[in-house]
Amino acid sequence: MIIDTETLFQSLYGSEDTGFATIHSPTHYSPGNVAYLFSPGVVVLSRPHMNIAGLATFLDGFDPSLNFNSYLDDPTPLPDGAQLCKVAGQVCYMSFGPKRTLNAQAKRYFDNIKSSGHGSVLEHANFSLLLYGISRSVTHELVRHRHLSFSQVSQRYVAGRVLRFVERPEYQADTHLHDQFIERIERAANEYATLTHRLLEMQQSGVSILSAQERTDLRKKVQQCARSVLPNETEAPIVVTANVRAWRHFIEMRASTHAEIEIRELALRVFLCLLRADPVLFDDYTLERLSDGTYIVKTEFEKV
Ligand SMILES: Cc1cc2nc3c(=O)[nH]c(=O)nc-3n(C[C@H](O)[C@H](O)[C@H](O)COP(=O)(O)OP(=O)(O)OC[C@H]3O[C@@H](n4cnc5c(N)ncnc54)[C@H](O)[C@@H]3O)c2cc1C
Repeated sequence: MIIDTETLFQSLYGSEDTGFATIHSPTHYSPGNVAYLFSPGVVVLSRPHMNIAGLATFLDGFDPSLNFNSYLDDPTPLPDGAQLCKVAGQVCYMSFGPKRTLNAQAKRYFDNIKSSGHGSVLEHANFSLLLYGISRSVTHELVRHRHLSFSQVSQRYVAGRVLRFVERPEYQADTHLHDQFIERIERAANEYATLTHRLLEMQQSGVSILSAQERTDLRKKVQQCARSVLPNETEAPIVVTANVRAWRHFIEMRASTHAEIEIRELALRVFLCLLRADPVLFDDYTLERLSDGTYIVKTEFEKV
């Protein structure tokens, strides 16, 4: 079953402010006040900002009969990422004259780039996303993608007050598994707090392996040890920056039927937000709903 992306974006409470799409994930609390989330949150933090007018002096430097300056009069605006990649691609053949592909035919231009595997053109547009409501297991899979750049919460630096957990979809759908999840995260949060307390006491009594010169290092020595009791379902917020070629590969690998469900839910949301941010560069993807109610994302132009 093919689904319309706009409908799904809205149904996941997606919102957008001037091209910066967001799919929010609310925080829930267990009876013992332990925070947890049950879906990935995605925030587009940054996207390309194209200086098309900056080409003027460069284009002016060529034979006026080539009419390269008409490039700046294209009446069809493109999203900045697509415009940047199109300029980069058109520099290759100096396609700035009246016979060039106009922005109105951007889809044809990019389908050609994608189908011919000239994906390096798509490396110019970078997007930075904040990803949250995802577990440490998911981020361990995410960081296998070597063309993505990461900054992730440090479990050595941050304290138990910001500890949150992620409930897998399987547990949400079953009362018994949900109750066990709640019990488990309350136990994990308590165990972490008790262990931190005990380690601090040992530090204060002068145990050498826990000692340090600096205050920050003292705290790290305690937390780097106490984190060993945190489960895979601990939340691990992360900022990821990548170019469009790398994001596309991530979406294709992880929003597929073969991918694990939690990372698939993440890749779906990443796709929906990037599609909003730049409809031209991601418009070849289609959504399909599987019999279990989850979604996959497909394209005929894989691994550009
Ligand atoms: C369904 C699924 C199951 C998986 N199961 C396992 C598992 O059981 N165990 C496990 O360890 N991993 C597993 N992985 C992770 C997988 O093996 C890859 O590490 C991960 O998907 C990153 O993708 P990639 O290898 O395409 O590389 P990326 O890092 O995303 O790079 C993108 C592309 O760049 C090129 N590239 C990058 N680095 C190099 C390089 N050094 N040399 C040559 N070309 C390069 C390749 O063409 C590559 O496809 C699984 C992934 C999926 C999607």
